[in-house]
Order: sequence, then C-alpha cells, then structure tokens
Amino acid sequence: MADDYLLQTKDITKKYKDVLAVDHVNINLKKGEIYGLIGRNGAGKTTLLKMLAGLANPTEGDYTIFGLSGRKTASLRDRVGVLIEHPGLFGNMSVYDNLKVKALALGVNDDDYLRELIDYVGLTSAGKRPVKKFSLGMKQRLGIALTLVSHPDLLLLDEPINGLDPQGIIEIRELIEKLAKEQKITIIISSHILEELSKIATRYGVINEGRLIAEFSHEELLDSCVQLIELRPDDVSKASTVLEGMGIKDYKAMDKRTIHIFERTDECGKIVLEMAKHNVEIQGVEIKHRSLEEYYIELTDRDQIDRRGEKK
Ligand code: ATP
Repeated sequence: MADDYLLQTKDITKKYKDVLAVDHVNINLKKGEIYGLIGRNGAGKTTLLKMLAGLANPTEGDYTIFGLSGRKTASLRDRVGVLIEHPGLFGNMSVYDNLKVKALALGVNDDDYLRELIDYVGLTSAGKRPVKKFSLGMKQRLGIALTLVSHPDLLLLDEPINGLDPQGIIEIRELIEKLAKEQKITIIISSHILEELSKIATRYGVINEGRLIAEFSHEELLDSCVQLIELRPDDVSKASTVLEGMGIKDYKAMDKRTIHIFERTDECGKIVLEMAKHNVEIQGVEIKHRSLEEYYIELTDRDQIDRRGEKK
C-alpha cells in the first residue's frame, strides 16, 4: 500500500446477523487530512469508525494504519484517539481529575501536558467544577482532550457536534481545525451537519447503506458543485447578445441587472473578457455553488436508483 496513506481500508465489511452494516468499503486517508464521513442514520459510519478504533472486528476485509495491518495495530492504539458515542466522563470529578485518570491508565506521567491540554481545549476557567455541571459543548471539548492524552496522530470523532448549540459547534470546529493545523493530527469526523463539515473537511467519503458511494476532495466538491455564474452587466440585453454570439444558450435574465449562466461554468474569465470586447461593462460576477447537502442528496438519490436498477 502507498506510503503516503496514513490509513487505508481494503474491502472492510461488517455484518451483524442479517444486517450488512459496512459493505466492502475502501477509504484512503493521507496524513494531515480532515476526512468528513457522511451518511444518514444507520448508513454504517459508527460501525466503520469502531472497526478502525479496534472496538469491533471486521467480518471481512482489512485496514492498515501507519502501514500496519489492522490485526497488528494493538501496539499503535495510543496513536489513535477515539471519541465514539459518549466520551465516558466521571461526572463528579473535575476536568483535571478526568484527564489524570486517563493518563494513569495509559501510563502518561506528565502533569504539565495535562494542564496544557485543559488550556488548549478552552476549559481552564472550569477549574474544579464537577463535569456533570458542564454544558454539552464543554463535555465534548473534554471528550476531545481525553483523546489527546496519549499524543495521538489520528483522531476518530463520531458526531462530535451532535446536539450542540451554535456557539458550541463553532468552538468544536475551531478546536478541530487547530488540532489539524498546529498539531498535524489527521482526523476522521462523521457528522450529519453537512454545512459545518464542509467548512473544515479536506476530503469526504459518502456512505449509503454500508457502501462507500463517493470519495472526493474539497476542491473536487467545489468543482462538482458549481451551479451557475451570476453576471451583473450594465446592459442585460447587450450581454445576452454577446452570450448568444459565444454559442451560450442556457442562461436566464433574472432582472434588469442580473443574468444567470448555467452552461460552460468553467469559462467565467472568457465570458467576462468577451463582454469587455463588446463594450459591456461587468459590475459584478460570482460563481455560485450548490451546498454539500444538495450534492449529498443527489449522490444518494442516484445510488438509490442504481440499486433499484440492479435488483430488477
Ligand atoms: P447513526 O448516525 O444513526 O449512528 P451510523 O451511520 O453510524 O448511524 P451504524 O450505527 O454504524 O450507522 O449502523 C449501521 C447498521 O448496523 C444499522 O442498520 C444498525 O442498526 C446496525 N447495527 C449497528 N450496530 C449493531 C449491533 N451491535 N448489532 C446489530 N446491528 C447493529
């Protein structure tokens, strides 16, 4: 397997009795990426993350982390931080004591590092308060701090922003970005909140009924999601004539100042240049994208249709 991949799965599969929770999934994760795992409830995201975390055995297939087969990664477990379902906190204890318990279990004896971690996740002001009195966002930040005790290179975060208020979501997003940028930690994060995910992920995998139906980079997402060019010429009728002259037919004048162009959306520069040549002044131009959510719905709808076709 290629050296530059930190994690790869090869036809990884998990079957629970009659349920094929994960079905021959192949994902490829490079060092430093933030990989957004997308899928509706029951798509298989948690099961996939559990297998990568060593918490469930694949029924079939394998995976490698740092080039080592999944069956041999027990020695690497400290390098993988896991936050799946609830963080498992001791409600009557303080932030520091929760971290200390984890550190003792892992044989980490570095109080300065624990204090640093508390500061890093923004929980210094919580002091000695028992964590049962914390907001959900604070608990999630402590959950992430716990995953960091062993200095991991890879983090597996299952729905870390579920149920958080907008402020809590921003704090977790900023923390994840900081971990990737400053600590160079590679992160897999599953989330239903696709708008949020699209703000941080560098790569995406879409899972539908256990199967990986698409994998793409953030740049590829932007390219696939170009919807239209919004042009604001000084004269819509002259601009329309120029478009016709270029052979562009799929456009619509929205009002006296705005035209939407739906074809050749990769030729924005050329269109503006052509307008200038014909003395049409362009007062504004914008490339509009579909959201990740719209793209995700299109991908899963297409997969649903393909599957029905296969079953016939
Ligand atoms: P959610 O966001 O709702 O957690 P998910 O994408 O994480 O969804 P999984 O929890 O991985 O999905 O579940 C995938 C499928 O496997 C579902 O049909 C689920 O019911 C089933 N499943 C998960 N865990 C078990 C288990 N321990 N025993 C039997 N079936 C299971």
